[in-house]
Amino acid sequence: MIADLQQLEKDALAELDSARTADAVQAVRTKYLGRKGLLTGLLRNIASVPPEEKPLFGKRCNEVKERLEAGIAAVQDRQAQAQKEDVLAREKIDVTLPGRGIRPGRVHPITQIRREICDVFAAFGFSVVEGPEVELDYYNFEALNIPKDHPARDMQDTFYISDNMVLRTHTSPVQVRIMEKVQPPVRILSPGRVYRPDSDVSHTPMFHQIEGLLVDRGVSFADLKGILSAFLKKVFGEDTVLRFRPSFFPFTEPSAEVDIRCVMCAGKGCRVCGQSGWLEILGSGMVDPAVFQNVGYDPEVYTGFAFGLGLERIAMLKYGISDIRLLFENDIRFLRQF
Ligand SMILES: [Zn+2]
Repeated sequence: MIADLQQLEKDALAELDSARTADAVQAVRTKYLGRKGLLTGLLRNIASVPPEEKPLFGKRCNEVKERLEAGIAAVQDRQAQAQKEDVLAREKIDVTLPGRGIRPGRVHPITQIRREICDVFAAFGFSVVEGPEVELDYYNFEALNIPKDHPARDMQDTFYISDNMVLRTHTSPVQVRIMEKVQPPVRILSPGRVYRPDSDVSHTPMFHQIEGLLVDRGVSFADLKGILSAFLKKVFGEDTVLRFRPSFFPFTEPSAEVDIRCVMCAGKGCRVCGQSGWLEILGSGMVDPAVFQNVGYDPEVYTGFAFGLGLERIAMLKYGISDIRLLFENDIRFLRQF
């Protein structure tokens, strides 16, 4: 029996020695010292030991038990210590490293373009005015010569808030609101967000427009052409080539689209300009007398011109951006480039 006990202790210590995890140590404890463990089993068999050997056998058993428990405790201590050191090593902070720093923000390319355009027109005496983005149907359509059944309403698919309220589809309603309040001469620029249910690489449901309006006595198409030419050369460069093309808008007559020679291919034809060599930049025209009548201006006395352009399109052409959605994803890596 004593020999069995010695062998058991040897086995147990060898297993403990190779136990690498807390679970493995616990398994050794259960195997030898548990209620159904091997040492417990030996003690239970003490009845078969000759009476004169019983005290010695009992003593030896207790000694083995104490040594095993001490051994297990020592291994557990070592494991706990190693774990603590591991955590400390992993979470070590090097306070001598330089800080990450705070990088300053940049002005968004849309804001840069808006400021640039407003500055150019400020030099021509235009002042900046703004209006509501949730607009009455009257200002967005009716007052601009677009009655309920007018096909031009299809040209600008609309988010309706209610039967007579919309998210404005253009910034032109601001012009009507101003003309209702002030008498000519008028020179205003109205930048702002507009909304149309459209989404692809060149359309987003919200985008930015700038519209301008000039009303006075004796304003002619030559004034329109002179100011818009000067403006486009300021933004795209003095050698920009322009062309004025007849077009249609319900609130101007005559109307003209203004194109510039493609800034990507210099007119040779490329993907951006659809091989035409030209880029549509803005819409313009002489204000329709019907609009003047709606706001109480005498069309026999006053004439004027209006124009409008999309800021995203200008930013994309000027900075060579291929997808309009990049402008609204607010990816700092994209925005830092401007
Ligand atoms: Zn081109």
